[in-house]
Amino acid sequence: MDIDIIELSERKARFILSGVSTSFANAFRRSVLAEVPVLAIDDVNIYENTSVLFDEQLSLRLGLIPLKTDTKSYTLREECSCKGAGCTLCQVSLTLSAEGPKVVYSGDMVSTDPEVRPADATIPIIELKEKHKVVVEAIARLGTGRNHSKWQAGVASGFKNMPVITIGNCDYCGKCVEVCPRNILKMEGNKVKIVDIIECSMCRLCENACDMDSIKVSSDPDSFVMSFETTGALTAAELALEAAGSIKKRAEQLGEILNTL
Ligand code: SF4
Ligand code: SF4
Ligand SMILES: [Zn+2]
Repeated sequence: MDIDIIELSERKARFILSGVSTSFANAFRRSVLAEVPVLAIDDVNIYENTSVLFDEQLSLRLGLIPLKTDTKSYTLREECSCKGAGCTLCQVSLTLSAEGPKVVYSGDMVSTDPEVRPADATIPIIELKEKHKVVVEAIARLGTGRNHSKWQAGVASGFKNMPVITIGNCDYCGKCVEVCPRNILKMEGNKVKIVDIIECSMCRLCENACDMDSIKVSSDPDSFVMSFETTGALTAAELALEAAGSIKKRAEQLGEILNTL
């Protein structure tokens, strides 16, 4: 297996994964979306709410705020030594107390663990008018996107086969260059040059435009352009490692089960 990183920023990753099957590429895509645990608000104790939002709507909005997650410090509630009762190893409390007139943002929440905080401080939660007040305590727990989208660590996770373009006998008419919507093809002297092939959408407009049937677009079955973004709960590098680790762990569990048969 080979990995060639094209882009890696705090919240976005794009890389070429070679020497793997389509099933593995898809397993990674799914793992990014559904198998990596992150913290999200799971329970809300509302002490006061005189805002225009119902308690349920307010709780729903709180639940969807991505929280910075240190996966090493917390454990899933169902795997915790407290047996689900709730302790500092499996949950963290955040409080919110605000009075209008003001717009309440995610950054107004105060966490008992400074490492666990909204990934973005400027997510609007509610607009409070004069004398409106909210006082809540929110309990965040680990979970995975498999159970609820609020625990989804990755978004826009996808992949495509690596495009392959070949050019045979050519009269350099330039028609393929003209029709390409992504500027993948360029005339360079008496030659058609392929630039930035990763961006090719495999639309085959170039093939259709070629009277000589010279240009062919196909894909490499063992090589994939992978991409995903994070909600901010984890960095893109952390999410990639956790997603790969999750696949490995599940494969080992399957191996153990098979060994007992
Ligand atoms: S398949 Fe489409 S995007 Fe790719 S080179 Fe041909 S025209 Fe351009
Ligand atoms: S359309 Fe065909 S013949 Fe014309 S430049 Fe492209 S590959 Fe060559
Ligand atoms: Zn616990």
